[in-house]
Amino acid sequence: MIGSKKDEKKADIRKNMSPESLMMSYGYKPELSEGALKCPIFQTSTFVFKTAEEGKHFFEIAYGLKEMKPLEEVGLIYTRLNNPDLEILENRLTLWDKAEEGAVFSSGMAAIFTVAYTFLRPGDAVLFFEPSYGGTEYLFHNVLPQFGIESVCLKAGSNREETEATIENSGFKDKLTLIFLETPANPTNKLTDISMLAEVAEKYSSDSRKVVLAVDNTFLGPFWQKPIEHGADLVVYSATKFIGGHSDVVAGVCLGSKQLLKPLKAMRTFMGNMATPWTGWLLMRSLETLQIRMTRQAENARYVADYLLGHPMVQKVYYLGHIKEEDPQFQIFCKQCNSGGAMIAFDISGNEKIAFHFLNSLQLIKLAVSLGGTESLAEHPASMTHSDVPPEDQKMMGVSERMIRLSIGIENKDDLISDLENAFRAYGSVAGQK
Ligand SMILES: *Cc1c(COP(=O)(O)O)cnc(C)c1O
Repeated sequence: MIGSKKDEKKADIRKNMSPESLMMSYGYKPELSEGALKCPIFQTSTFVFKTAEEGKHFFEIAYGLKEMKPLEEVGLIYTRLNNPDLEILENRLTLWDKAEEGAVFSSGMAAIFTVAYTFLRPGDAVLFFEPSYGGTEYLFHNVLPQFGIESVCLKAGSNREETEATIENSGFKDKLTLIFLETPANPTNKLTDISMLAEVAEKYSSDSRKVVLAVDNTFLGPFWQKPIEHGADLVVYSATKFIGGHSDVVAGVCLGSKQLLKPLKAMRTFMGNMATPWTGWLLMRSLETLQIRMTRQAENARYVADYLLGHPMVQKVYYLGHIKEEDPQFQIFCKQCNSGGAMIAFDISGNEKIAFHFLNSLQLIKLAVSLGGTESLAEHPASMTHSDVPPEDQKMMGVSERMIRLSIGIENKDDLISDLENAFRAYGSVAGQK
């Protein structure tokens, strides 16, 4: 398929519009699908070539034997390599983060594993931050060492001096190849400075070895934080969370430059861990309401966080919108986040028993891990999402048996408060009985 000059001009105009205006149409050509307004689900494993010559040409492009002509689009071959639902979805995802290229995966972990397999080789080292998502920590601590890849770990929120001192003292200074950051940290909402790490990555890169900075932007992206604007090379997502947004799909995303995405997509082709066409279609449906969902979730979260802050049975609230100006975290917040987000943790006064009683008393808010969906969820990090973190490390991170994590959805905010209030009352009666 070769696009016309007119198509190119149309695409340019669209590039200047806001992502939310483009989520319903960008990258989709109704004339190629019988005029259907919505992009159909291309539920097919393989694609018919018009001629043998065309098939040969598509393969030459796919295997890098020939360069594409200007305006030429990649020919469809086989769904493990490419599929319209995935390509249109990838094009739409690039708009939010202002990335050149995107790749969608069967899960967030598939995206993270594929980044590791693409950019790390035996003898290399990776720097990452704790707390990180459990699967990510497991990959860096337990899986990669089996392939001769070392990891160096730092506390979330570390500043430049601490980061450089850790690299200098690690013994892996000359082997550092990947910096993997999750900010804000889960569940404490601790922020780490993305542009500071971009400078560190630059400093430790050499002509022969680029240090890639990858940011897991699941908690705030793609609407509230844009790591590429702050110097990140790659952005990864569990699209299972805010991007999917309805708790009905598992998927992952990686975005970045064409140069870095090319080997990543090649690796995905051979690992075979792309998302399915049906998942791609569901995520396009989700992207149409991303901004409206996330805006409502953030409004609700602020309301809930403010309510918790003043509550006599709450000892501490961990919420980005409450960071005080004198806190060094405030600078980072102003620089790289444009919302307090929809994730809140708080310490209830009491112990695990009290925390569990509170969780068991919630009715509207569901007791489940995961996050970012239209419905509000509550969980107990110490015994659930972070249960494999050794107790000393939990303590260091600030995760205690008193902590409860909330992911705030799009419900009526007063109903959320009354659900929390009822659970606090139930807890009060138990605490009183003792
Ligand atoms: C859920 C999550 C992941 C893993 O994503 P899956 O889609 O479950 O594989 C990675 N990082 C963060 C921050 C997450 O919340």
